[in-house]
Amino acid sequence: MLLIPGPVEVPHSVMKRASEIGNHRSNEFREAVYQLESLMKEFFDSDRVAILSGSGTLAVETMIFSMVEPNEKVVSFTYGEFGNRMIDSLKRRKAKVYVVDKPFGETVTINDVDTALDKYSPSTVTLVHNETSTGVAIRNLRDLVGHIRKKGVKILVDSVSGFAGHEIRLNEWGIDAAVTGSQKALASVPGISFVAVSKKAEVKQRDDIPVYTDLSNYLRFQDRGENPFTPAVGPLFASLRAAEILKDEGIENRIRRHEACMKITRSQFKSWGYKLIGDEEDFSNTVLAVETGNFTDEIISKLKERNIEIARGMRNMARNTVRLGLMGMVNNDMIDVLLSSWAEIAGLKYEKVHDIYCELPEFLKSEISW
Ligand code: PLP
Repeated sequence: MLLIPGPVEVPHSVMKRASEIGNHRSNEFREAVYQLESLMKEFFDSDRVAILSGSGTLAVETMIFSMVEPNEKVVSFTYGEFGNRMIDSLKRRKAKVYVVDKPFGETVTINDVDTALDKYSPSTVTLVHNETSTGVAIRNLRDLVGHIRKKGVKILVDSVSGFAGHEIRLNEWGIDAAVTGSQKALASVPGISFVAVSKKAEVKQRDDIPVYTDLSNYLRFQDRGENPFTPAVGPLFASLRAAEILKDEGIENRIRRHEACMKITRSQFKSWGYKLIGDEEDFSNTVLAVETGNFTDEIISKLKERNIEIARGMRNMARNTVRLGLMGMVNNDMIDVLLSSWAEIAGLKYEKVHDIYCELPEFLKSEISW
C-alpha cells in the first residue's frame, strides 16, 4: 500500500486506462482532452487548464517561465523544499527574486505578506499551497489571496499536493495561475500535470523560453483537443477517469474526506506522544510529517515488510522524520491498516476510530483492494 506523498493508490478503473496507448491525433483522444480540461476548469474554477505530459515540476516551470518576465520583481515565500525549488526556477527565469524564508514547519501569514509587499513592491507573489516536505498548508489561502489581490499583484500558486486536498478557486479568489500533478490527491497515475489560469491572467506567446514550457502553445493546441507534442496518452486517459471519479464524488466531499482522515491520523500520533511538524492551525489535509528520531529506519523498513510504504523526511529531516501521504483514495480502513501496523511494531496501544467523513463513497468501494 502506497502511503507516500505521491504517487498514491489509484482506483482500478484509473489503472486500467493508464495502459491504453491510442492515437493522439484521433477524435477519441481529442474528446478526452476536451473533457479533461473541462473537468479540471470546474475543479480549479479557472478559465483554462493546460494538460502537460510531465511531472509537477514541469507544471511549476511552465507557469513560471510563461508568466514571469526576466527582471520582474517577485516575492517568493518559502517554508520547505518545494518553496526552495520554486525559487530556483524563478532564478533560472532570471527574475529578480526576493525570498521570504520562513522556518520549515511554518507557513506564510498575512503579516508576512504585508511586510514583504511594503518592502519590495513586487509585481508577482509565489506561494506553495501545501508544503509536502513538512506537511503544512496555507489553510487560509482565500483570505491571504484576497489580501494580496488588493495590491494588484499577480499570484502564482504551487498546489501540486494541495489540489483536491484543500480548496483552491482561481477566478473567484483572484489567483492568476496554479498547478497540480496527476499522482497526488486527484488519484491518477504519475505523468500528467496541470497549469490552471484564471480569466484575469495574461498568457503571452513567447519565443524566449524552452518550447516545452510555453503555456500559450499548450493552450493553442488544446483549442483543437490536441497537445503540441506526443503526450503520455495512457496517463492522460487515466487522469480523465480520475477526474470523472472526482466529479462523481464531488470535490468538496473529497476535501472533507482528506481532512477527516488526516484528523484521525494526527490525533492518534499525538496521543502516542509523537511530535508532529507544524502548528495545529497549519496542518495539511494530505501530508503528515512525524518526528521519529532513531526509530526512523526501523519503522520504514518494518512497515515495508508488511507492504506499507511511507516516505522519509526531506533533506536534513531525512534521518529523524517520516512523511505519510494520505491522498486520493484514503479511507478508514487504509488508516486502520497503517496505524494498527505501526502500533504493533512500536508496541503501542491502538483502537480503530471510524469517521463517516473518512469513508469512500459507495460507488468507489469496489475500485480499491484494501
Ligand atoms: N511541488 C510540490 C508541493 C510537490 O509536492 C511536488 C512533488 O512532490 C512538486 C512540486 C514536484 O512535483 P514532481 O515531483 O511531480 O515533479
